[in-house]
Amino acid sequence: MLVDSYGRTVDYLRVSVTERCNFRCQYCMPEKPFSWVPKENLLGFEELFEFIKVSIDEGVTKIRITGGEPLLREDLDRFVKMIHDYKNDVDLAMTTNAYLLKGAAQKLYDAGLRRINVSIDSLIPDVAEKIAKKDVLRHVLAGIEEALRVGFRVKVNMVPMKGMNENEVLDVLEFCKERKMTVRFIEYMENVHAEVDIKGMQSAELLEIIGSRYRYNDEGFDGHSPSHYYKLEDGYEFGIIEPHKDDFCAKCNRIRLTAEGTLIPCLYFDEAMSIRDAIRRGDIKEAALVLKEVIRTKPEKNRWSDPDGELSKRAFYETGG
Ligand code: SAM
Ligand code: SF4
Repeated sequence: MLVDSYGRTVDYLRVSVTERCNFRCQYCMPEKPFSWVPKENLLGFEELFEFIKVSIDEGVTKIRITGGEPLLREDLDRFVKMIHDYKNDVDLAMTTNAYLLKGAAQKLYDAGLRRINVSIDSLIPDVAEKIAKKDVLRHVLAGIEEALRVGFRVKVNMVPMKGMNENEVLDVLEFCKERKMTVRFIEYMENVHAEVDIKGMQSAELLEIIGSRYRYNDEGFDGHSPSHYYKLEDGYEFGIIEPHKDDFCAKCNRIRLTAEGTLIPCLYFDEAMSIRDAIRRGDIKEAALVLKEVIRTKPEKNRWSDPDGELSKRAFYETGG
């Protein structure tokens, strides 16, 4: 079992398989990312899998494949199958922008994946294009439709922003409700890679909008999920991810691995350690030691709730959100 210095059990590994992306979402990635990691520095699926085995053996029970855009990596279904075949009760999921999902969904399902989170920030083509800096909506919707047809459990992530998509909070909620997909509204997390003038929306503002149409009950948190859940009178549940709340990190159970083998204890801070060389040398013992050290140094909490906190320098597209 992996336990950090604050007594939190860490059993969730998020694996970013690429930092590259076919979108340029305003809140995540600059128009021209500073540099891409040279291809030779990226870990192959076999190398990532070596570390995943170490982390499963040490106590990880939940793995999410993310990015950048994970579907840009060829043969992702092969990677899913490796993990699934190693331990088929690992709770395996993927977060994607869904642009390429239509062609990939069936193969991923056949490889053992059952849960997908998709980002939808707008249902208006021009607004979706403004946010992602690309004409994306048709492809995203086709990807979601296919994922549902194939049998995936689909959740939706939306980052509501003032003056951008704030008037679509109810539309996205309804869209998801009609399709039995849980929507989670994510408070925008300020970072140096995003456009400077973005103004995110906080949970109280979102609840006011939702409360203008629906009555809801506060359901609290579901296990270690970062999402605060609410239930409408008809039983539909939606979530809000509130990193600006002071107690957001109290139950944090996760660490993150980037495509170049950097192990990151917290989404906010820069501190990290590499497992790349250890894995490339086949030194599994060393990789396990780095894993334990990263967990030992996991910070108590992020600084998004701190009004004097500096802007986070961590790139979501590298870290995987
Ligand atoms: N490309 C995939 C996608 O967009 O779903 C996976 C990677 S993306 C970094 C993972 C999640 O992080 C997405 O749901 C995205 O909306 C969210 N995200 C990225 N930057 C964010 C930010 N600054 N604040 C809040 N959420 C952010
Ligand atoms: Fe790409 Fe996802 Fe970042 Fe958008 S949020 S730029 S889709 S990695």
